[in-house]
Amino acid sequence: MLTKPFPWWNDRHKKLAEETKDFADKNLGRGEEVAWTKEFPMDLVRQVQEKGWFGALIPEDYGGMGLGVTGSTIVAEELSRVCSALCGAYSVTMFGGVEQVLLYGSEEQKKKWLPPVAKGEVTGAICITEPAVGSDAASIETTARREGDEYVINGKKRFITNAGVADMYLVYAKTSDKPEDKAKYAHLSALLVKKGTPGFSVEKINELQGWAGLPNGFLNFDDVRVPAENLIAGEGMGWKILVDGLNFERVTFAAGMLGPIREAIKYAVSYGERRIQFGQPTVNFETNQFRIADMFAGLKTSRLLIYHAANLLDIKAEAMAEAATAKLYTSEVYEKIMSDAIQVMGGDGWTHFYPVESFMRDSKVNQIGAGTSEVMRLVIYRGETRAMAKDLKLPKRKVHERLGVPISTTEQLPAKEASEKGLLEVLAENYCLNPGLFMTWTDMKERLANVADDVLTGLLTSLEQKGLAVLYKDRKGTIQMARASYKGLKEAKPFEYYKWYPEWLSKDYIF
Ligand SMILES: Cc1cc2nc3c(=O)[nH]c(=O)nc-3n(C[C@H](O)[C@H](O)[C@H](O)COP(=O)(O)OP(=O)(O)OC[C@H]3O[C@@H](n4cnc5c(N)ncnc54)[C@H](O)[C@@H]3O)c2cc1C
Repeated sequence: MLTKPFPWWNDRHKKLAEETKDFADKNLGRGEEVAWTKEFPMDLVRQVQEKGWFGALIPEDYGGMGLGVTGSTIVAEELSRVCSALCGAYSVTMFGGVEQVLLYGSEEQKKKWLPPVAKGEVTGAICITEPAVGSDAASIETTARREGDEYVINGKKRFITNAGVADMYLVYAKTSDKPEDKAKYAHLSALLVKKGTPGFSVEKINELQGWAGLPNGFLNFDDVRVPAENLIAGEGMGWKILVDGLNFERVTFAAGMLGPIREAIKYAVSYGERRIQFGQPTVNFETNQFRIADMFAGLKTSRLLIYHAANLLDIKAEAMAEAATAKLYTSEVYEKIMSDAIQVMGGDGWTHFYPVESFMRDSKVNQIGAGTSEVMRLVIYRGETRAMAKDLKLPKRKVHERLGVPISTTEQLPAKEASEKGLLEVLAENYCLNPGLFMTWTDMKERLANVADDVLTGLLTSLEQKGLAVLYKDRKGTIQMARASYKGLKEAKPFEYYKWYPEWLSKDYIF
């Protein structure tokens, strides 16, 4: 088995995994047809809907299966083995309406919008991106103006997956131009728009490198009137809804890469077992085995990251870094796995006659859709440096008495007097401990006895004016960090204080 249930799955998750796998096994050929014809596989979508799997995420109270994000992830993983068009139609419905209504919809909205999806009557789309607005989603230009009991939407969206085939479109639009609302990210709102609403049309369908059969295009909103009851969670809540939905979107999107990865491994191994070169199966060559080992490692790591993040979402735990890591890692390893699988299969792998080539063509978009790899890195960097600030603190260091070298310590170091002399000594000491680094505000305060912020500012300013310290200030001119200048080092301590040589060094070389 290329996959195993995780220990935290319940029996219904396991059963769902078996059933969806069985469905995928039986429909792999139909999925390959789509890669050739590029026709949207409505027949496959209907079959999945009839089985009730569009309701995996939807609670039983609203006609769904109540299997949470884990259940929805299982469905996305298996459907993605069949074809990206089928998986995309499913996934985008989940993060284009269902998740937002689940998290933020009123009881009436849940009763109205969720059961039709669970019953398989409705598919969805998510409309954030615009011609001039990509990663910077807060700059959305599409407007929604309140008029009586309606909102009037004007603008264009692009890159919308399921464009035309979806029945329900979750549209983010600007409802305020006030700078104070923008500053609070309260200028956007989320509205549900039905296909067929006057003024709402498909402008263009993109011809893509991959994702065969999955319509993706531009939408035009020309004075589109929707009832005010289609607004989710109140005016100005759009950004919050958008951001809160992203973790789920990233997990679901990442799950859609697992199927092709599994298929690629299957092809690489089974092909290599049957291809004889130099008198033996090519899978016997260690180079091919190593590539396949990397593929397994990539699959296992991706699945673990994705289902761990899904579980965090199910238990309502913080999952921003986990979801972004799952999406980032899987999309990067996906590209390598497809390239390696083709390499193992040689020229055949690069032809359209085996499906691995079409998986390879999907690899780039995985690093762009649902937030680019750069945006994932920004999310991970910002989130983790904030969350782990305590653990990431530079260890306190002191000069080791016997070795004379800097070494980390948990000791409470004796504080210096809060004077220019004391501060300069601290900065000189820091030169011995971290010669290339500035000291932060906190670093300096820790080493000076009871120094108030304004006193420290005064001391540093004076040292700077005398040329004894170099200051690093922010854009507003506030001092952030400081270090001793050459003159400051000389003034603080005699040269002997800074000297250190390794014991093995010949004295002949020291002058
Ligand atoms: C096939 C496909 C399907 C899609 N489906 C949907 C959909 O259903 N609904 C929807 O709303 N959108 C959809 N998108 C849009 C997708 O979310 C955007 O393409 C994506 O967010 C990036 O926006 P962009 O393409 O405009 O690139 P840009 O934002 O213009 O970025 C260009 C490059 O600059 C980098 N960059 C941008 N900002 C920063 C920064 N601050 N720091 C570092 N690097 C940065 C990006 O990472 C990228 O490499 C889809 C896109 C594609 C290609």
